[in-house]
Amino acid sequence: MCLQEIREKIRMAEAEAGRPAGSVTLIAVSKVQPDARIESVLEQGHRVFGENRVQEAAGKWPGFRDRFEGVELHLIGPLQTNKARQAFGLFDTIHSVDRPKLAKTIARLSQEEGHCPSLFIQVNTGEEEQKAGILPADADAFVAQCRALELPVQGLMCIPPAQEEASLHFALLAKIAERNGLTDLSMGMSGDFEKAISFGATHVRIGSAIFGARAHD
Ligand SMILES: *Cc1c(COP(=O)(O)O)cnc(C)c1O
Repeated sequence: MCLQEIREKIRMAEAEAGRPAGSVTLIAVSKVQPDARIESVLEQGHRVFGENRVQEAAGKWPGFRDRFEGVELHLIGPLQTNKARQAFGLFDTIHSVDRPKLAKTIARLSQEEGHCPSLFIQVNTGEEEQKAGILPADADAFVAQCRALELPVQGLMCIPPAQEEASLHFALLAKIAERNGLTDLSMGMSGDFEKAISFGATHVRIGSAIFGARAHD
C-alpha cells in the first residue's frame, strides 16, 4: 500500500461509520524507517508522524522540522520520566501517559516550561504483563488524577494484544473514554485501522502499510 491508498481507505471507513471526512487523523509511524522513505512521505505533503523512542526521534526530527514546515510529532511509545523533559522539546502529543509518577512529572514540567504537549492516557486493555498502560479498572481514577493536575488530556490510547480480536479492545477503550467525557481515541494500526475507525478512532497509527516493512521493531 501507499500513503494515497491509506488516505482513501480512511475516507471510506469514515463514511461507512457516518463520520465527517477528515475526522480521523493519520499518524504515519516512522520508527526505524530509513530517512529516504520518511522524506518521500513528507514530500507528498504529509505532516503528522509518530515515533516510539525519544532518542530516535531526537536524532532525526529536528533536521526534518528545519526542512519541512508544519510537522506534528507524536510520541506513541513508553516514556521514562528521565526522558520527559526531552520529550517536551520534541513532541506535540504524547500518547503514552500511563502512571501517576509520569503524570506528576509532566505536570511539573509543564509549569517549568510554560507549555505542555497534548496527552493521551494509554490503557492496557488486554491487561498484558509486558505492555505499558494503566489497567482498565484503574483508568477512571487515573483520568481524574490527571485532570486534578490540570493536564491537557485529549483522549485514550490502546494497543490490543496481538493474538486477540481487536474489536473487543477498541470497544472497551471507547466505553472508558465515553464515561470519562473524553472524545479522542488513539487506536488502530496497519492491520486494523478500518475496524478501529468503526469503533470511533480519531487517531490511527499506521507504520508498515505506509512505509513498508521495518528491518526490526
Ligand atoms: C509501531 C507502532 C505502530 C504502527 O504499527 P504498524 O503495524 O506498522 O502499522 C502503531 N502504534 C504503536 C504504539 C507502535 O509502536
